[in-house]
Amino acid sequence: MTTVIENNSQKSDRLEVGTPLLEVKDLHVEFHTRDGIAKAVNGVNYSVAAGETLAVLGESGSGKSVTAQTIMGILDMPPGKVTQGQILYRGQDMLTMGNEERRKIRGQKIAMIFQDALSALNPVLSVGYQLGEMFRVHQGASKKEAKEKAIELMDRVRIPAARQRVNDYPHQFSGGMRQRIMIAMALSLQPDLIIADEPTTALDVTVQAQVMDLLAELQAEYNMGLILITHDLGVVADVADKIAVMYAGRIVETAPVHELYANPAHPYTKGLLRSIPRLDQKGQDLYAIKGLPPNLLKVPAGCAFNPRCEIATDLCRTEIPALHHVTDKDGKELTGRRSACHLWKETLHG
Ligand code: SF4
Repeated sequence: MTTVIENNSQKSDRLEVGTPLLEVKDLHVEFHTRDGIAKAVNGVNYSVAAGETLAVLGESGSGKSVTAQTIMGILDMPPGKVTQGQILYRGQDMLTMGNEERRKIRGQKIAMIFQDALSALNPVLSVGYQLGEMFRVHQGASKKEAKEKAIELMDRVRIPAARQRVNDYPHQFSGGMRQRIMIAMALSLQPDLIIADEPTTALDVTVQAQVMDLLAELQAEYNMGLILITHDLGVVADVADKIAVMYAGRIVETAPVHELYANPAHPYTKGLLRSIPRLDQKGQDLYAIKGLPPNLLKVPAGCAFNPRCEIATDLCRTEIPALHHVTDKDGKELTGRRSACHLWKETLHG
């Protein structure tokens, strides 16, 4: 059976699995406020290839969503300002290309799924109308054809009784079903890359898992890149290939997902992993990293995590640690693994 996506002529334009799709290089974004300049993104580097899932993890204020909004061009500027860096889509810098070219990429090649589907969808239009809009506006489909494509998309994201529900409004669907509709809307653009910003935060745990599984399945099937932004390490273990952990505007650790879970190389990641509820610890108090993320107008000197870190030394309070490659006990570099910690060896091998 042909599908909405397979019908599209852009399919031939798809990259081989593993080909670099998006590279963020040394990105700096700041906000000019009445109280001073907040450096929200401070030299961030990451990349995602076709068919690959990158999870970007961090607490609120870590810079993970600001980076994504900068990629999508939806960051309010001012007060936001990109002061340095590149965002390469298929090797071309989106920050320096013309408006029209950038608009085409952001509108059709990179799609975004937001946390709150209810406010992202128009409440007074049926979901079928909203899903069909792409086909009417960009492909000249008739109303009837667009409706059929909307039904096909709803089927594709497993909304039961799609044909009967195509004229329903967003509020008539559950939170999980609305998030599936958001995924369907993103798919209708036939994107190379989907950026999902906390796509399951508002959902209960079972529905979270179903939505994540669906995203992962579609991403693999259509060979898309996926950037999954989350504050919750628990939701990405089974779907991400690699993780970038952010803190106070910087990446503090990167690793293939299973290696990070098995053996983190940064105390912050270690704390996040200890904070995940576990069935074998029923009845015990849940661990929480002490303190709060810093105010970006008053980031501590040295390592920004030092006031919350249980092993901080004097060096940590004066010198910002660079994002190092890390090695195994024999000194062999571990592929894809980096840590911005003066004590990464102790953390990884201790
Ligand atoms: Fe902790 Fe120091 Fe490492 Fe920062 S650099 S995470 S304060 S040990």
